[in-house]
Amino acid sequence: MLLSVVAPVFNEEAIVQEFYRRASGVLNGIGEPWELILVNDGSQDRSPELMREIHACDERVKVVSFARNFGHQVAITAGMDYARGDAVVVLDADLQDPPEVIPDLLAQWRAGYQVVYAVRAERKGETWFKETTAKLFYRAIAKITDIDIPTDTGDFRLMDRKVVNALKGMREKHRFMRGLSVWVGFRQTGVNYVRAERFAGETKYPLKKMLKFALDGITSFSYLPLQLATYLGFAAAGLSLVGIIVAVILRLSGSEAFYGQASTLVSVLFFGGVQLICLGIIGEYLGRIYDEVKGRPLYIVGETLGLDEE
Ligand code: UDP
Ligand code: MG
Repeated sequence: MLLSVVAPVFNEEAIVQEFYRRASGVLNGIGEPWELILVNDGSQDRSPELMREIHACDERVKVVSFARNFGHQVAITAGMDYARGDAVVVLDADLQDPPEVIPDLLAQWRAGYQVVYAVRAERKGETWFKETTAKLFYRAIAKITDIDIPTDTGDFRLMDRKVVNALKGMREKHRFMRGLSVWVGFRQTGVNYVRAERFAGETKYPLKKMLKFALDGITSFSYLPLQLATYLGFAAAGLSLVGIIVAVILRLSGSEAFYGQASTLVSVLFFGGVQLICLGIIGEYLGRIYDEVKGRPLYIVGETLGLDEE
């Protein structure tokens, strides 16, 4: 059997060598043939050169270099496209997902599971903000989507060849891999691990990217926001009906409560806001549909090392 390990790399010059050292140590200890596929997601620093050096010393390390930055989820996808293994492990290159967990994942795979995800039992060195928002997000997405995405799992997981082939057929542009790998089904289980601190460097997920990622996750698996627009519409319409009746009664009874422009202004602003929110929700879905319809490839490869060009 061949074990493939996929790691996305975006400006990780401070980490690449240490990652290779630790990952190869663990993989050699397993005693099976392995390949390590590093996906260079358009890095602007020295990490491409470092990866080239590592590949020159160790042929089992292969490199896919994108023509520009396409994002973490797309980088994972590319690694899985190129992987040849009977089992494929995906993990972050920043050593937050300790390679030492791979033997545990493999043990479950040998026990017959086809997707073995790593569950963060504990997170180290994460900001309070990130930990709380992540927790809330995974609880929320578990509630509103039809599929059971296990809480507190990232993209760190092992997938059987069958699962990888199924995922390779799913080319949607706004990818939420941790959801897709659950959506495909198969026998799944989790293994607990302690998420380590980033080995060096800064997070490559600023708030803006995190928000986009969260929206991709929700829109990929749920229509709830669209239905929310409907509910909001009904609620607003009901509210305005009450308002109209009250206004008519007050006017007929000779009250001066609705003279002047303040009440008009308030209601126009309120309903304008509600309408814009609903349009925005539709826009989020519409933009994603447009991206799908354009049918562009998920990524453009600039160069590969040690891999056949396909
Ligand atoms: N990454 C990537 N492309 C990006 C952003 C991140 O390939 O546009 C990689 C990054 O190099 C790392 C992994 O994805 O190996 C996870 O990123 P990071 O550690 O910055 O995210 P965090 O752990 O802070 O959520
Ligand atoms: Mg990280």
